[in-house]
Amino acid sequence: MTTELLTDLRAMARDHAAALRVTALDLDRDPTLATTGLHRAVPWRQLVGLPAAHNPDPLRVRGRPVLLDTCVEQVTVLEELARADAGAVLALPGPSMSGSVIADLADDQQHDRYWTTVADGPTWTFFGMTEPAHGSDPGGMTTTLRPDGDRLLLTGTKRFVGNAARARLGVVFARRHSGPLGVVAVLVDTTRPGFEAVPLPTLGLRGLQLSELRMRDVPIEPADVLGRHRSATRQGMWAATRTFHRYRPVVSCLALGVAQAAYDLVTAERRGFRSHERHLLDGWAQRLVGTRALVLAAAHSADRDPADGTLASAAKIRATGLAEEITTTAVRMLGPGARWDHPLLDKLVRDARAFEFMEGTGNIQRLTLAQGYLQGRLGDARAA
Ligand SMILES: Cc1cc2nc3c(=O)[nH]c(=O)nc-3n(C[C@H](O)[C@H](O)[C@H](O)COP(=O)(O)OP(=O)(O)OC[C@H]3O[C@@H](n4cnc5c(N)ncnc54)[C@H](O)[C@@H]3O)c2cc1C
Repeated sequence: MTTELLTDLRAMARDHAAALRVTALDLDRDPTLATTGLHRAVPWRQLVGLPAAHNPDPLRVRGRPVLLDTCVEQVTVLEELARADAGAVLALPGPSMSGSVIADLADDQQHDRYWTTVADGPTWTFFGMTEPAHGSDPGGMTTTLRPDGDRLLLTGTKRFVGNAARARLGVVFARRHSGPLGVVAVLVDTTRPGFEAVPLPTLGLRGLQLSELRMRDVPIEPADVLGRHRSATRQGMWAATRTFHRYRPVVSCLALGVAQAAYDLVTAERRGFRSHERHLLDGWAQRLVGTRALVLAAAHSADRDPADGTLASAAKIRATGLAEEITTTAVRMLGPGARWDHPLLDKLVRDARAFEFMEGTGNIQRLTLAQGYLQGRLGDARAA
């Protein structure tokens, strides 16, 4: 997509974003509003990346259909929506991260089942990887998928899983046997016996309604196992890694939207800046532009090669750091009682903190970035 088309796409997203700002504080107070009204505030079908067969009325930019099925299109639109309310973006129905696993692993039948369910009406999905005792480290994963006659049984607990308590369908990662190749992804219908998803109390990005999944002998049919027609090296962890690399630019654009919103708020609410404050604001304005360029480069890289997460990690480090810096400094710049006087700023401070953990902490991103650098991948990225 050309720069001109992306500029028009961004402007279109900005128009839709206005509706999300109106509901931002209400959704923060009561995340259940996501299922009762939020999806009616914006044309969610056009904004969540449904495939052409399930999206008869896509966004159109200069007459051309835009399905938001590339990372570049997604970061352009979602940053503008997050500038209004990042929690609402994450609370929209649709494929979210699980759609990427489906794209990489599902056979025709699974593909059809997943997308028919997701596009049928407002349907939430989830991506269940993180566990209470071992976090998102697959090496320690204890959720198991074990045979029981002709079927399988899924048992384990996942925590900090977005949208799970309101989801109809999701992807759960589980271990069939030891070792990295023993992890598989299964498509789980939340109505199955033994499945429970409970919302967790959270401070930031509350609209996402992080949840805990409790699964006890949930019956899984062989047809629910994603990638079963593929070799062992192209199954669970392979798809999870590609999903992280594709989704980190998206998380980065959401953090950037929060950073931009805090910048907008300070410049709108404060009159008369001292010279050192002006200098600070100028620096932020430049870094917002620079980070936007880095997020876009990371999105291009993810579209080109989802196996390479180097730029995605760089973008996440930058965008998360900037969101934390601008939101916390904005509190000081707006004086005592700022978080009380400006409830939206209070929300932005809390939301910004969540990005550090979402999709891997800064230290993990630095390790990925260092590996990419040592393998010469940053050089390739610059050339591209
Ligand atoms: C808003 C939000 C949404 C989320 N959504 C989902 C979801 O939908 N599905 C899901 O499965 N999970 C989800 N998560 C969970 C999230 O993916 C994990 O919490 C995150 O990846 C961090 O992993 P961890 O908990 O294993 O922490 P760890 O990676 O263990 O990190 C713990 C601490 O140790 C440090 N650390 C770890 N390894 C190293 C190292 N090698 N060197 C130096 N320091 C290190 C980290 O920097 C951190 O400070 C979400 C979390 C949040 C906050």
